[in-house]
Amino acid sequence: MREILVAGNWKMNGSTTANKALISGIVSAVPEGSGFRLLVCPPFPFLASVANLLSGSKVALGAQNVSEHDSGAFTGETSASMLKDVGCEYVIVGHSERRAMYAETSVQVAAKFQAAQTAGIIPILCVGETLAQRESGTTQEVIDEQLDAVLDSAGVEAFATAVIAYEPVWAIGTGMTATPEQAQDVHKHIRARLAEQNAVLADKVQILYGGSMKGENAAGLLCMPDIDGGLIGGASLKANDFLAIAKAAAQSYTNS
Ligand code: PEP
Repeated sequence: MREILVAGNWKMNGSTTANKALISGIVSAVPEGSGFRLLVCPPFPFLASVANLLSGSKVALGAQNVSEHDSGAFTGETSASMLKDVGCEYVIVGHSERRAMYAETSVQVAAKFQAAQTAGIIPILCVGETLAQRESGTTQEVIDEQLDAVLDSAGVEAFATAVIAYEPVWAIGTGMTATPEQAQDVHKHIRARLAEQNAVLADKVQILYGGSMKGENAAGLLCMPDIDGGLIGGASLKANDFLAIAKAAAQSYTNS
């Protein structure tokens, strides 16, 4: 059975004071049980201090972005080995905000994915379609292009130490959530795409859903057979909201 991952993407939010309160609220009330993992992804300047706050807890640390380069003259960039150095276990790559606002291409995202793995960090590869793409019936083509860029450069075996997050762009930060059935359809498609190359591995890959997930809708999404957790933006910024999703994850694992 696949473990459930509940990952908080803080985006460009937080402060030293606010982070202390948020992390202490989370770590003091992590639900009992097994089969699920919690992860927080703060902005770069807070990674080291949040690593300290998390020390001794069951909550993992991740970053929101990484350079595809190792080191050198890349002003403003952060390498995967630096993330590893400050205690990151995961890094988000290819978030739709980065693809849309910073023109990251699927080829560049694939390079970031590989840079993370080379440094021993688990990449969380985000894929997802816009509303216009969904309405024009091209959701699967869009997902395939984003996925294939990584499959072609890193090979299917690379997904043995990677996580995928399906994040329909139209559901991110909008309050519009994909229905469990809409999300399940795409998750199933993603797993099938990997299974064309390695069915055993495809069955083990965690595929998270992201897009306005919250306490009220988490249980319905997490009970779908191919949804293995959530990548959470807004609801990861308040301990109680994040913990409500964590509780749904713990319950969903127990029920399955
Ligand atoms: C995200 O940005 O990854 C996300 C899913 O945001 P939200 O939960 O706010 O929709």
